[in-house]
Amino acid sequence: MEAGRNLRPLVAGNWKMNGLRAQLAEGMRVRDGLSAKTGADVMICPPATLLHPLAEAARGSKLLVGAQDCHPEASGAYTGDISAEMLKDAGAVAVIVGHSERRSAHGEFDRTVRRKAEAAHRAGLTAIVCVGETAGQREAGLTLDVVRRQLQGSLPDSARAENTAVAYEPVWAIGTGRTPSAGDVAVVHRVIREALIARFGTEGSEIRILYGGSVNPGNARELLRVDNVNGALVGGASLKASDLLAIISAYEH
Ligand code: PEP
Repeated sequence: MEAGRNLRPLVAGNWKMNGLRAQLAEGMRVRDGLSAKTGADVMICPPATLLHPLAEAARGSKLLVGAQDCHPEASGAYTGDISAEMLKDAGAVAVIVGHSERRSAHGEFDRTVRRKAEAAHRAGLTAIVCVGETAGQREAGLTLDVVRRQLQGSLPDSARAENTAVAYEPVWAIGTGRTPSAGDVAVVHRVIREALIARFGTEGSEIRILYGGSVNPGNARELLRVDNVNGALVGGASLKASDLLAIISAYEH
């Protein structure tokens, strides 16, 4: 049996810097669309301003609420930053770290990402750790090297199946409508699985590996049934409840 095949999938929506309070209604539609038939854990990661109200609205439901980034320290003189402990206090159960938009626009390297993942674990949050190659790296045949290096540098020793998910997000596929073929996704996810097992043993076979990058209702079924794809990180399509629910229905039983 292929490692990771029986894991309950996770579909996480990353709203990025989108959404005024009116957007909460979409989150509530997602909440109300989840049922006993939903075959995945479902999470929305809203901007920090909507975290607490969405977490309150989701309380007692199947909808999980996560955050998009955290500071490595628990508190201190870091104007504008938010700690993992604060996110947890606001109702988050997880936090995305190492998203390529943070790596490129905020100059975050693997070491910083690892510290943020450690902070998430310290606070009792699941760290969703993103890795993925740029178009140039892919063209140069460096995809697997880049992903292995980012994984090694970004994942802390504290990573366990219950507190960590890895998101493979090819940078060139994010927000572009372009995706790798199912075969290419299978190759990268297998390499990630092997790296996780090599480092964490059997625990590594149970860490969920999400695919992210232009997932939409039209391609979800094909991408999400690839071996070692244990869910999705969804950007643009997560802003509309109907699209996110259509993606999640790929896992309906
Ligand atoms: C993302 O940014 O995490 C993402 C997957 O975006 P999109 O689905 O819009 O490509």
